[in-house]
Amino acid sequence: MTNSVSLLPGGSATGGATAGAAEPLTLGVMGGGQLGRMFVHAAQTMGYFTAVLDPDAQSPAGRVSHRHIQTDYTDPSGLQQLAACSAAITTEFENVPAPALRELAKLRPVSPSADAVAIAQDRAAEKAHFVKCGVTCAPYAVIESGAQLDEALSGNLLPGILKTSRMGYDGKGQVRVKDADALRAAWQDLKQVPCVLEKMLPLHLECSVIVARGRDGQMVNFPVQRNLHREGILAVTEVYEGHLPEVMQQQAVAAARSIAEGVNYVGVLCVEFFVLQDGSMVVNEMAPRPHNSGHYTLDACDQSQFDLQVRTLAGLPLTQPRQHSAAIMLNVLGDVWFDAKGAVRLPDWAAVLALPGTHLHLYGKTEARKARKMGHLNVTGASVAEVRQVALKAAAILGIEAF
Ligand code: ATP
Ligand code: MG
Repeated sequence: MTNSVSLLPGGSATGGATAGAAEPLTLGVMGGGQLGRMFVHAAQTMGYFTAVLDPDAQSPAGRVSHRHIQTDYTDPSGLQQLAACSAAITTEFENVPAPALRELAKLRPVSPSADAVAIAQDRAAEKAHFVKCGVTCAPYAVIESGAQLDEALSGNLLPGILKTSRMGYDGKGQVRVKDADALRAAWQDLKQVPCVLEKMLPLHLECSVIVARGRDGQMVNFPVQRNLHREGILAVTEVYEGHLPEVMQQQAVAAARSIAEGVNYVGVLCVEFFVLQDGSMVVNEMAPRPHNSGHYTLDACDQSQFDLQVRTLAGLPLTQPRQHSAAIMLNVLGDVWFDAKGAVRLPDWAAVLALPGTHLHLYGKTEARKARKMGHLNVTGASVAEVRQVALKAAAILGIEAF
């Protein structure tokens, strides 16, 4: 179901005896992780009520939402409840089953569409979409059978990375393979589920860009951000004057725009890229939602990626966001709660917050585990030098490796 009218914040005036009374509209979100939580905050700031569907009683978004529907993502009664109370529905992670989004879309406007999410859920479909849009990705082969594995061996893809086609995130479901034996063993270990084998590329750097596209096809974008990953997980994002050559940024924005247009995308989309040592750029993957690498927008831009998620969902006007401060984002993983000997400790937030331009975002997760995303720290400032200096000090206090 598409919606041609804007779902204005504050809802529609009811009039009558209570002149001026207005019942706020509710925006719904599938998934209750940290991305859902920050969507909820943005929606609430604009005066909407929110509903979150997530099976976890402790979910970060469920705990701050007006309503938390605590069922499985495919539970018909949960989906019915979400549709009944929401004026429009979005998703906060790409592994929400596409059929659930299709069901919801029969009842309410849903963005991004199930079709767009289905592409991002499956690495093989995603790469085919990139090719269709004329955007180059790493050389790859789809492996769904022993015969395809043998065929892939003649494709000059080794050393490579075997990635499960579905359900991978933060480097999970990925095995680096250097030769044919390692590839066979890795596919066995991954239980022979459908995979893609990607050639290991010589990376110079990684970057990503976030675009937002409205129902009318209007598109805006944030600046391109430079990302540092450690062990398959985003560690640091930097966005400031001179962090990336201008031409590289233009190339990334143009590619992201054609990827969004190619699927008539509505919502916030992140596209990740590799820049190779020879300077060429290839697309890595896309996320049909706000992205960890866009968290700096919360404090360094005049609108955040979550504000734009609300606007695209509600059919509100989009204006090009403007970055007003140099920014570095440090991801705060559960590792920070452990000292060098592995003993549990509380991070020294007071020392971090004593530094100028620090903005702490913790997601309200009760259990810190290594490699678990617990929050992030944005550092903003007027100059690159200032921001780098503060970010390095904060990293040292928290025990995060320097960058
Ligand atoms: P997420 O969804 O959290 O971004 P993911 O699990 O989907 O991560 P990828 O983005 O595919 O994982 O890969 C994680 C990281 O591994 C990349 O950011 C990059 O650092 C490295 N990597 C992945 N593929 C390649 C490749 N073909 N060549 C070199 N490095 C790669
Ligand atoms: Mg990635």
